[in-house]
Amino acid sequence: MGMHELLQKDPEIWDLFCRKEEYEPSIRDKYNRFPYYASTSRTVFAPRASEYLMNNGYPVHFPEGTSFAVCLTHDIDRVYAPALQKSVDSLKHAAHGRFKESAASIRQVFSKKHPYTNFEDIMNLEERYNARSSFYFLALDPADEDYEYPVDDLCQEIGSLQDRGWEVGLHGGHQGYHDLTKLKDEKRKLERITNKPVTGCRNHYLNFIVPDTWEVMKNAGFAYDCSLGYADCAGFRNGMCHPFRPFNLQTGRSIDIIEIPQIIMDDSLSDLYMRLDPGTAWEITRRLIDTVAACQGVITLLWHNTTLFGEQLAFYEKILHYCAGKQAWMTSGEQISAWWKQQHASD
Ligand SMILES: [Zn+2]
Repeated sequence: MGMHELLQKDPEIWDLFCRKEEYEPSIRDKYNRFPYYASTSRTVFAPRASEYLMNNGYPVHFPEGTSFAVCLTHDIDRVYAPALQKSVDSLKHAAHGRFKESAASIRQVFSKKHPYTNFEDIMNLEERYNARSSFYFLALDPADEDYEYPVDDLCQEIGSLQDRGWEVGLHGGHQGYHDLTKLKDEKRKLERITNKPVTGCRNHYLNFIVPDTWEVMKNAGFAYDCSLGYADCAGFRNGMCHPFRPFNLQTGRSIDIIEIPQIIMDDSLSDLYMRLDPGTAWEITRRLIDTVAACQGVITLLWHNTTLFGEQLAFYEKILHYCAGKQAWMTSGEQISAWWKQQHASD
C-alpha cells in the first residue's frame, strides 16, 4: 500500500500530513508565513504521521550500515560581512579578552576577502565525519529584496563545492515561492554557474504557501524541496520525518516532487525565535535526533554559513559527532531525495 493510501486511513493524521489547516489560515506573519503559534496542532516535537506509517509497516531502508539519515544544509544569505558589524565584533571579542579572535576580526575589516565564504572550512569539518551537505545560494538581481551578493561572484567557490561532491542548490528569494517566472529565472541564473541542472530548492525565510509552493517548484523543474518547517519553532510541521510526495487537497492529486521536511534551523533555537540557552538548545536537538533515529527517518538541519563560527560551530560539530556515533547517513538533500525516489517509485 502506498504512503498516501495508508495515511488516508486515519483522517486526523491525513489532515496533519496535508497541512489542511493551512489552506485557510487565520494568521499569516508579515512574511506571509503560517507560524507554529497559529497552529491548532500542539504536538510539533512528535512526528505523528511518520510514527503512524512505521507502526503500520511502511517500508523504509537506508544505505547499508545506516538506519536513519541527517540531511545537512546551509543557506547562503550573505558572504560579505558589513564592515561596521565586523568592527563591532572585534571590539566585543577584545572586551572579552579574546585577543586572537579579535586580531583575526580586525584583519578581516581591512581585507577584501569575503569573511563568510567559509565553505572550505565547513566541507573540511563535514568530511572529517564522512558527511556531505547542501549549500543553497541566492541568485537574485540587485533590485530584489535581500540582494546581498551577485552569485556570479562565487563561481570559484561553487566549482570547488561541486568538485568535492557537495550539493549546490537554489535558495529561492522572497518572490519565488509563489512566482514561477521568478523562480525559473533564479534557477537558470544559478545553472549558468553550475553547468548542470539544479535539483534542490530551499526558500529564504522558509517562505511557503501550502500547497501552491510545491506546484510552483515542481513546475520550475525541481526534484525536491526542503522548506517545509516552521521558522518560529523546531519540529515536525506536518508530522513527518520522512521524505514524501505532497498531496494537493484542491486538485485531489499528489504533486510530483519530493519534500524533505525541514526540522531544526539554527535561528529557530536562538534569540530570534525560541530563545533557548545553549544547554536547552542541545537537549532539544538531541531529543529530536533520537526521535527521528527511533522512527528511521530523516532529520534536516539548517545551519547558515554566517553562524558557523565560534560557539555555533562547536554546537554544529557536536551534532555531527553525536549523529556519527549513531551510525547516521549524513548527506545532502540531493542524495536523500534520489535515494527516496528510487526506493519509493510507486508512492
Ligand atoms: Zn535565507
